Amino acid sequence: MPLEEYNKKRNFEKTPEPKGEESVSKQGNTFVIQRHHASHLHYDLRLEMDGVLKSWAVPKEPPVKEGIKRLAVQTEDHPLEYASFEGEIARGEYGAGTVEIWDNGSYELEERRKDKILFRLNGNKMKGNFALIRLKNNPRNWLFFRRKG
Ligand code: MN
Repeated sequence: MPLEEYNKKRNFEKTPEPKGEESVSKQGNTFVIQRHHASHLHYDLRLEMDGVLKSWAVPKEPPVKEGIKRLAVQTEDHPLEYASFEGEIARGEYGAGTVEIWDNGSYELEERRKDKILFRLNGNKMKGNFALIRLKNNPRNWLFFRRKG
């Protein structure tokens, strides 16, 4: 149940977020970055993989240019429907605050390993080659940066 953690954290009577249901289609290549003004402003990078949105919270503005390295903390998988979600999560609820789409589009996966994901983003702000490299200190911590090209 890849979306179990997502569903457990939320009360769908109280949040406008979509309920987590796994998609039958596993072929999509959507990416989205949501600006999430919660208790701490951060950006949520999501890549469609295995019928869900693999997700990372990036505490600072995403690396639009080469030479910027950002910590990206892997969070629970989100349902595909979340890629179009924008709205207000009420006070007291998980992730309370404002969610808006900061950038989105399609992506091309170049390499995917346990500790390394190479991909090309075709967004408006994020256009080019990127990498996620898992850090050794904590399996949830990755480095997110732009590569050449
Ligand atoms: Mn978030």
